[in-house]
Amino acid sequence: MDHVLVTGGAGYIGSHACKALSQAGYMPVTFDNLVTGWRDAVKFGPFEQGDLSNRARLDAVFQTYKPVAVMHFAALSQVGEAMSKPGLYWQNNVCGSLSLIEAAVENGCLDFVFSSTCATYGEHDNVVLDESTPQEPLNAYGACKRAIEDMLHNFEAAHGLRSVIFRYFNVAGADPDGEVGEFHKPETHLIPLMLDAIDGKRDALTVFGTDYDTPDGTCIRDYVHVCDLVDAHVLGLKWLKDGKGSEVFNLGTGSGFSVREVITHSRSVTNRDVPIVEGPRRAGDCTKLVSGSVRAERDLQWTPTRSKLEVMIADAWRWHQTGHYDK
Ligand code: UDP
Repeated sequence: MDHVLVTGGAGYIGSHACKALSQAGYMPVTFDNLVTGWRDAVKFGPFEQGDLSNRARLDAVFQTYKPVAVMHFAALSQVGEAMSKPGLYWQNNVCGSLSLIEAAVENGCLDFVFSSTCATYGEHDNVVLDESTPQEPLNAYGACKRAIEDMLHNFEAAHGLRSVIFRYFNVAGADPDGEVGEFHKPETHLIPLMLDAIDGKRDALTVFGTDYDTPDGTCIRDYVHVCDLVDAHVLGLKWLKDGKGSEVFNLGTGSGFSVREVITHSRSVTNRDVPIVEGPRRAGDCTKLVSGSVRAERDLQWTPTRSKLEVMIADAWRWHQTGHYDK
């Protein structure tokens, strides 16, 4: 069975990717330092604890498993923290990725799937965000991801590393079987924080900014189900294995929802009240991030099946109620 090295496989998206890879007939090897990941989420293949900065560990893992590809999820991912601690993000995300990419190339593993972000685009008023939109990140998180994209292109030119880069919009939901789900400590994402407020684990959800230039004053995002997102990664891996070469794909649905709309949907899905307080804007937040691309659907034959907002909230709510958050 072919092995795929999954960095960050103990995290939210990485653990769902491991499940999708194992269902597609691959053996996912999780490489994770467990700083933000969770050991119990590694269920679908071997676990190797280590930090991306540790080249000797990485080389040993490449030599043990001889993976046919890398899926690179491992990263710190909080926009607010990236704004206040950019050095941490450049060190961990950019230098860590450099160490991984060098290890991959030197160990002859030349197919690389990378999780990037729509935060690399930054603010573009009334512009549909497709893969050719200029990348002008507003925050340090997006700047780091853009730098890693550049790194991948440089390594392709010099060493033949092929990459599929996915620019995620807002990932939400959980495995409908309940095997894995979302768990961040601290949690910073809208939907899990809202579910916490709904069931009394926090007093209220703070709405970050009500004075944006949007119909209801709150930020608009494009939410995509984590299971649909990781399905695209398996298709991206196939794309590389079919010899189709490096490519960049947005992963979003093309539908935007404001924070207030997400709250309204959550009330109806859970049949519970959502206590909210209105607060100031959060540093680094863009007004609107919605994908205007169909490239993934067209070229990868990607067909999202669970990315309706009600389904994402319902899946997240079911996972939330299992109590995994409390561990
Ligand atoms: N948001 C909010 N309150 C929160 C967390 C998030 O109002 O407690 C807003 C945030 O400002 C953004 C949207 O919800 O407009 C999605 O934020 P999230 O952190 O989930 O994802 P991001 O867009 O930063 O990747």
